[in-house]
Amino acid sequence: MSGTLQQLQSQLNGINRQLLHLLNEQERTAAEIVRIKEEQGISEADPIGVQQMVSELISHNQGPIANDTIMNFFKEIFHAYQKKQNNAKTEQKLLVSRRHKSEDTIIRVKQAEFGGVSPVMIAGPCSIESRDQLLTVAAALKNAGVTVLRGGAFKPRTSPYDFQGLGVEGLKIMKEVADELGMVTISEIMSPSQIDTAARYIDIFQIGARNMQNFDLLKAVGQSGQPVLLKRGLSATLEEFILAAEYILYKGNDRVMLTERGIRTFEKWTRNTLDISAVPLLKQETHLPVLVDVSHSAGRKDILLSCAKAALAAGADGIMVEVHPNPQAALSDANQQINIDEFHTFWQGLCDSGLF
Ligand code: PEP
Ligand code: MN
Repeated sequence: MSGTLQQLQSQLNGINRQLLHLLNEQERTAAEIVRIKEEQGISEADPIGVQQMVSELISHNQGPIANDTIMNFFKEIFHAYQKKQNNAKTEQKLLVSRRHKSEDTIIRVKQAEFGGVSPVMIAGPCSIESRDQLLTVAAALKNAGVTVLRGGAFKPRTSPYDFQGLGVEGLKIMKEVADELGMVTISEIMSPSQIDTAARYIDIFQIGARNMQNFDLLKAVGQSGQPVLLKRGLSATLEEFILAAEYILYKGNDRVMLTERGIRTFEKWTRNTLDISAVPLLKQETHLPVLVDVSHSAGRKDILLSCAKAALAAGADGIMVEVHPNPQAALSDANQQINIDEFHTFWQGLCDSGLF
């Protein structure tokens, strides 16, 4: 490099460093303006007046930079700064956030405790198909020491021609069986109109993946005050997931557990991809219990134990697994449900691992 070029290069580096210093000064000053305005109770959508500042700047521009370039550059900087401020504020304000409540939320439902010292096993068939079917599986589970029984009565099926669940009849069966055995129950509801009826028969409402952003349903279960197991949507980001939970808390109900149940990816060897990182992230960002549904994430039986161990090792507060007395004949999710013997092996494996 010639001497002049070298000199210009180092001059440019110097200018860049000064700009960097000034940009940081600019952010600090803008933050101070926002802080003082907030203290004085002045809440404006644009507290630092980006538009006005940029127009003022352009009126002083003597070139050679074009006004458009100046405008885009400064708007970009201020908007990035505003976005950062807004994100920090929303996170602080969220009721689900650890910043709002630092200690773990423990949800007690009869003899079950979600988010407490020991993880919880939730097991049962995908759908309630008959009293016999549910009683057979529930009695086996109870014998093994499982206290929380799952079973769908209102089924969100991809095709309208598939089994849609027994509806209220199914819930009645569930209550009868659970009362007989002394178990806690979880079943899915799909619409606010089902809340009052379902509340008579089940202990915990499940909101399924397909309804994670059914905002009317979220608000309604929020008002109901009944414990809610909220599943992550099929392609929901963690931010969307926690904001869905926020709807429930915002309506006055903090008895919410989050359930990772796998997300859609390009992978075909599993029904969904179990996002293990969701567990520590949700535990870190929220104070709610975090569970992992191994059946709907894997969509197959052979890797359930490894997935459940991974979930517990990552900090999950519980595991959900689908168990059916005769999976081949199941009216829904036949491929992924395990039979009672397979459940015993799965359960033993978890107990032996020392994670449960
Ligand atoms: C279920 O638990 O039966 C179910 C339908 O799960 P998901 O909403 O996670 O698909
Ligand atoms: Mn299922």
